[in-house]
Amino acid sequence: MRKGHPWVFEDSIERLSRPGASGDVAVLFDSSGKQLLGAGLYDPSSSVRVRVLAFGSGKPPVGELLFTRLVQNALERRLPHIPPDTDGWRVIHGESDSFSGLVADRYAETLVLKIYSSAWLPWIPCVVKSIESGISGLRRCVLRYSREVRNLLPEGFPFPEGSVISSEPGDSFNGIQHFRENGILFEADVIRGQKTGFFLDQRDNRTRVRNLSRGKRVLNVFSYSGGFSLYAAAGGASSVVSVDSDRHAAEWVNVNFGLNRNIPGVASCRHEEIAADAFEAMKELARSGRRFDIVIVDPPSFAKAESEIPAALNTYSRLARLAAGLLIPDGILVFASCSSRVTADRLFETVGGSVRRENRRLDEIMRTGHAVDHPSDFKESAYLKCLYAYVRMK
Ligand code: SAH
Repeated sequence: MRKGHPWVFEDSIERLSRPGASGDVAVLFDSSGKQLLGAGLYDPSSSVRVRVLAFGSGKPPVGELLFTRLVQNALERRLPHIPPDTDGWRVIHGESDSFSGLVADRYAETLVLKIYSSAWLPWIPCVVKSIESGISGLRRCVLRYSREVRNLLPEGFPFPEGSVISSEPGDSFNGIQHFRENGILFEADVIRGQKTGFFLDQRDNRTRVRNLSRGKRVLNVFSYSGGFSLYAAAGGASSVVSVDSDRHAAEWVNVNFGLNRNIPGVASCRHEEIAADAFEAMKELARSGRRFDIVIVDPPSFAKAESEIPAALNTYSRLARLAAGLLIPDGILVFASCSSRVTADRLFETVGGSVRRENRRLDEIMRTGHAVDHPSDFKESAYLKCLYAYVRMK
């Protein structure tokens, strides 16, 4: 805590003044009992026993005033950097915005709150009010929970998974929300979709891909609803192939292409989507002699625990080899990873090594991370890394 870390683990708590219930405010003192270290929310169901929200003394107590202040800080930090024509962005990014265990994404008039600690459950109305007081134009809030929290929701809890708190009586919102990112229109299902409905963290990488795509044949592997595919098309790609094993995601890419026919590049781009396993689809594309100028690989997290790192690196290695084999000489590989446990150095070493085994070499262009609305102020919160490299003949 003295170094600003927002997690207090179960085994570092020496004494409790009384048994705490989930969501109680915990005031933390050092072991002398004299020095106030800060305050947070108590979570008896998790080994992260206290989610620290305020360090030291002199802060407003945990509650609406503190949340409103933290929301203001979060907005001040990111609003000047949200690009024009963009109304889908992350309002609160957990720990890095002092809201440990809570994420809030805005999709046009819908706010989506995703909760990763049951300590937040009693505070939901208060948090929603604080966010709504800082952002104009919101009409409703959708509630989503991590799997662990979903399993802990108390019987009769007023806000089950996917419930909607609406400012309009009779709101028949079904989860389908349109929003814009850099002038491109997307449809997201914010109730049933992955994460909160879209992968907002890749916005800046999508912009980079748009800038690289003029006249190019682009392959987007692990496309989800086609974020990178749409940007590539808008940037003038001659063709885009999207691959995802989630059938709904594959259908969505089509929907999103349909929504953007007014953008000349999107209207003229040949688009094809493959609803299949990425490894199988890439092998099949290679067998049929298809080659691409740009290959984007943005897989799900493969290492959630330390013990999964070797297997994850092995999977990245296979993906990198398959991608390299599909690129023309001097083609561009865009390779992302959201496994927080795999460092950028290890990942890119692995990718470089496997490309060499294909008799190619990487000529690195740049390494990037999250977009500005996904700040990572503490080590555990840095998860996204993305490598851009030319793949040259050896
Ligand atoms: N690039 C996307 C986000 C990708 S998230 C964007 O910018 O929005 C990871 C995606 O990988 C998910 O859509 C998931 O359905 C898909 N996926 C997971 N395992 C897969 C596999 N074996 N083959 C193909 N797609 C897979």
